[in-house]
Amino acid sequence: MTHDSSATHAALNQSPAFEDIDLFASDRPLVEAVALNEASSAYIEHSDFGQLWGSAAMAERGRLANENPPKLKTFDARGNRRDEVEFHPAYHELMTHSVEAGIHNSTWTKHGKPAGRASEVIRAAKFYMAAQVETGHLCPITMTRAAVAALGSQPDVLAQVMPVIASRSYDPTFAPWSTKRGMTLGMGMTEKQGGTDVRSNITRAISDGDAYRISGHKWFMSAPMCDAFLVLAQADDGLSCFFMPRFRPDGSVNAIEFQRLKDKLGNRSNASSEVEFNDAYALRVGEEGKGIRTIIQMVQLTRQDCAIASAGLMRSGLAHALHHARHRSVFQKHLADQPMMQSVLADMALHVEACTALVMRLCHSFDRAPEDPAEAAWMRLLTPAVKYWVCKTAPGFLYEAMECMGGNGYVEEGILARHYREAPVNAIWEGSGNVMCLDVLRALSREGDAAIAVLQALVDDTRGLPGAPDTAAFVARTLLRPDSERVARQAVESLVMLAAAAALNLVHPPHAELFAKTRLDSARSTMYGAAEFTEAQSRGLLDRALPR
Ligand SMILES: Cc1cc2nc3c(=O)[nH]c(=O)nc-3n(C[C@H](O)[C@H](O)[C@H](O)COP(=O)(O)OP(=O)(O)OC[C@H]3O[C@@H](n4cnc5c(N)ncnc54)[C@H](O)[C@@H]3O)c2cc1C
Repeated sequence: MTHDSSATHAALNQSPAFEDIDLFASDRPLVEAVALNEASSAYIEHSDFGQLWGSAAMAERGRLANENPPKLKTFDARGNRRDEVEFHPAYHELMTHSVEAGIHNSTWTKHGKPAGRASEVIRAAKFYMAAQVETGHLCPITMTRAAVAALGSQPDVLAQVMPVIASRSYDPTFAPWSTKRGMTLGMGMTEKQGGTDVRSNITRAISDGDAYRISGHKWFMSAPMCDAFLVLAQADDGLSCFFMPRFRPDGSVNAIEFQRLKDKLGNRSNASSEVEFNDAYALRVGEEGKGIRTIIQMVQLTRQDCAIASAGLMRSGLAHALHHARHRSVFQKHLADQPMMQSVLADMALHVEACTALVMRLCHSFDRAPEDPAEAAWMRLLTPAVKYWVCKTAPGFLYEAMECMGGNGYVEEGILARHYREAPVNAIWEGSGNVMCLDVLRALSREGDAAIAVLQALVDDTRGLPGAPDTAAFVARTLLRPDSERVARQAVESLVMLAAAAALNLVHPPHAELFAKTRLDSARSTMYGAAEFTEAQSRGLLDRALPR
């Protein structure tokens, strides 16, 4: 007789799996923020996307892609260089779905111009939902769409690659980009001696006819199976930006030699390489000596995506925690009905609602910036601030979400352990926290009048909210201090919370009032759940976050 190990007991009082849900329709704060920012016409598209990405099958792909991380194949069996990275099929399936949905290109026309209308907000909602399932594969997705902005500085190169970038077919074959159905792009800036300070790059570019030969290294270069990279290197006239494809025009493999893959805390489905260039073929993008000015256009967009992804990760943490608390009973009562747990979850729901409203408002400014100078100023000042705050709050938030689920939150079968490991990277890459605050100061010093006008607009949009006028006065006073660098984190945090209150006030004023009362008007505890809400307010926040 065989022994049935489950025969002695049933798994009682466990929450059912949180899967096969519509990540869009079940998220009212998202639906309303998208609609407020002029993208309600995409409801069906978003709901279809939300059902697909909320399915058990996609969750399984996310798990497999992370439990089977990419492997570097440096050489073949005969000792020839191969420099290929192999990914699990689940990773390719995630890429296929993201590319089919246009997350890598839909904000551009087929000629590489901004697509306009609400394309940023429409795409951002998809990015936000995909991030709830698997963030590692989003690295090449975000870099591909962002690279187009930098390639705009070199119209002849842009015109060649845009037809392939504009495709919605994912093509993982290792072949010259010009022969492929679709392509992805990466970015190589960081070197051993400096990531923030890219002016310290020592990689050299030597002009060779119409092209350049590049020699040197990059200490971090993610998604190494991209078809081409935008790379910074020192040319005769200074630091310059280059388009470096995996294959030379004659079809031979370019001299891009991967040394190792990083062994990372999280972000495991994504490969991040250390790489040497050995006279690698490349084309210049933009003028010689203007490399930072060129590539910063790409970085502005990847920073936007860091914030969206972190908001998505927190949304996922909240939804899993809330779902669990509604099913798990402790002392004859569901956790979600225990007053203290209700306060914790409601406080977390308020944070996510504010982050969601804020990132969608930011994406709206990207939509409007080409035609509206006030929105361009909003985008310039707030992009680093939003990246700073939203990304920095994610690790602590996810830890709290994990704790709401007790021990189940801490184990690897659930998604929260992965989200938690994933969260810090969005604050580190594409400009770390201090660098974001310095960038806010830079915007203020270079375009001071425009920045002051943005602050004034935030004052208008938060009129009547408790604590808002004092917060705005503090921001202005502190950012304009001669020693503002020393206190920039405090000022930027206040600035971005004011912007969050303003964004939320447009979407759902009662919750903007709660946000202002608990974040702007009073000294905030460092813990979620310490803010005082009535039971009705808590229920309002939670029912809005996830229908029962
Ligand atoms: C998983 C992963 C993948 C990555 N992928 C890529 C990639 O594909 N391409 C690429 O180019 N890079 C990539 N990076 C590198 C990343 O962009 C850098 O690590 C980041 O920009 C920080 O640079 P750094 O590591 O050299 O740190 P540093 O520049 O040495 O910074 C260290 C710390 O000092 C702070 N700091 C810097 N300047 C100042 C200042 N003036 N005042 C106060 N504080 C300051 C920073 O905020 C940071 O906290 C990746 C990193 C990670 C972790």
